[in-house]
Amino acid sequence: MPGLLSIEDALAHVLARAQPLEVESVLLADCRGRVLLEEARAAVDLPPFASSAMDGYAVRAADTPGRLELVGRVAAGRPAGRSLEQGQAMGIATGGAVPDGADAVVPIELVVDTDNGIHIEASAKAGDHVRPVGGDVLEGAAILEAGTRLGPAQLGAAAAAGVASLRCARRPRVTVLSTGTELRRPGAELGPGEIYESNSVMLVAALAVEGAEVDVLDSVADDPGAHRAAIEHGLAGDLLVTSGGVSVGPHDLVRSVERELGVEEVFWRVAVKPGKPVAFGTRGRTLVFGLPGNPVSALVGFELFVRPALRGLQGERSPGPRYAYGSLGAPLRRNGARDELVRARTRTGGTEVVLDPVAGQDSHMIVRAAAADALVLVPLGVGELGAGERVRYLPLG
Ligand code: AMP
Ligand code: MG
Repeated sequence: MPGLLSIEDALAHVLARAQPLEVESVLLADCRGRVLLEEARAAVDLPPFASSAMDGYAVRAADTPGRLELVGRVAAGRPAGRSLEQGQAMGIATGGAVPDGADAVVPIELVVDTDNGIHIEASAKAGDHVRPVGGDVLEGAAILEAGTRLGPAQLGAAAAAGVASLRCARRPRVTVLSTGTELRRPGAELGPGEIYESNSVMLVAALAVEGAEVDVLDSVADDPGAHRAAIEHGLAGDLLVTSGGVSVGPHDLVRSVERELGVEEVFWRVAVKPGKPVAFGTRGRTLVFGLPGNPVSALVGFELFVRPALRGLQGERSPGPRYAYGSLGAPLRRNGARDELVRARTRTGGTEVVLDPVAGQDSHMIVRAAAADALVLVPLGVGELGAGERVRYLPLG
């Protein structure tokens, strides 16, 4: 199919329009999974004071080896309140403030208790088992770069450096709308020709991981009036994602209704299988994605375009999609006209991730896709990719 937009070009169109939303201050406890929009700096030196890395004895290194007088004990959070003179030692706990005058800590295991003191057999060096002030970071230095997604370690870093809130992009407000007269809620009785609606719950789950605030609408029948009301509602948010109704049939109304409502279409149809009829446009700052209705097509369209868009809206440095590398467990025929995303299951073979395609690759086969944890990218071309061939894949959550 000559002239179809490539995945890369389509993604570039999306990312160019997925600019970060406004910044807001967010308490650390609410930052999980969000993206830092402005660099964060340490509020204190870390550690804030020279502290012991071990349970042991604070000493002057020059006094070792030898017998030392024990003059006190330092617990974490309870400084000694006096300095250490020549020939003296103080017991010290991990995290305790090393007293003035001391320059090393000797671990408890290397010390022999004597009557009113201790004996140290080996010689210590200045700095041994002492964590210097600011050894992790100095006050005012950058601790987290703009564009960083805030995972557990990043949140721990901010807390340790005394930062109580972070400057993040506002959460994207996303509306999810399924279209199709045939769709029924799971649990309802199916009439003739009806199927259960599965795209919205799938998309909501994927959106939640990306930190979106999601509004799910009841699915609409293939009727222009119903489409209009729901789409107009969705266009008030930052991102609208519809499924179904973007193909060429007489009941495919999404694109024409969006056009009436002022959506400027940026692209329609991409050289990808499944998911070719995917549509993307904008109205003002709202990003508008029309995913095809087949559940696997919707899943693929989400991974290729919607997830990166959400990351872009939050200012993430590398919005993806983030491909990993593995080797094929079985040969795959290439498609002459479209890049293909093949559902596969990963296993580890030696040092490599091996990708075994699952049986049942049709775009309606969501249950078969549920057995997969990867989408293997099979670039368009002639012939086949052999078993053992190195390929890129998208991990599925
Ligand atoms: P469409 O893209 O509207 O032509 O739909 C393509 C196929 O996907 C049809 O078989 C639809 O019944 C099915 N489909 C559309 N929307 C959904 C949905 N939300 N959940 C499950 N299947 C759907
Ligand atoms: Mg439809």
